[in-house]
Amino acid sequence: MTKAGNRRRREWYARHREHVKKYQAEYYAKHKEQIAQRAKARMGWAKRNPHRVAFFNRRCGIKLKQEVLAHYGGCKCVICKESRLSCLSLDHIGGGGNKERKMGKLVGTKFYHWLKKNNYPDLPLRVLCMNCQFIERDEQLKHKYMDVHPIRLWQPISNTK
Ligand SMILES: [Zn+2]
Repeated sequence: MTKAGNRRRREWYARHREHVKKYQAEYYAKHKEQIAQRAKARMGWAKRNPHRVAFFNRRCGIKLKQEVLAHYGGCKCVICKESRLSCLSLDHIGGGGNKERKMGKLVGTKFYHWLKKNNYPDLPLRVLCMNCQFIERDEQLKHKYMDVHPIRLWQPISNTK
């Protein structure tokens, strides 16, 4: 379905709303049992094939993630260019992530859904791999503890003097 086709359909529907509603109500009344049966059959299929449902859900999740990452710089880590999707995620530049996430409980796929639904808002987001994200976090901690001791937190600690 093309975009123009979609628009035409929406316009047509807006003009004939009442007619369509009436038709749908009549159709539903006439085929009530059949519709319920089909819905039940579908649910039954899903229950018998949980691994298939899980697989398709996962596929949808991956597609969504790819789409969203593409909008915020592409499917690779901005620091090390890692491109394996499993370890990539969106990082809030400056670490403001917790606040936004807590506000809407937007974690993982829900966060991606939210971004897509809101037309990819202009947030300070970048794509990072998990390794670079951990390293960045330590970098931030370094600043935090600089006044305690100007040593890098993640520097190996040796026992020899
Ligand atoms: Zn990286």
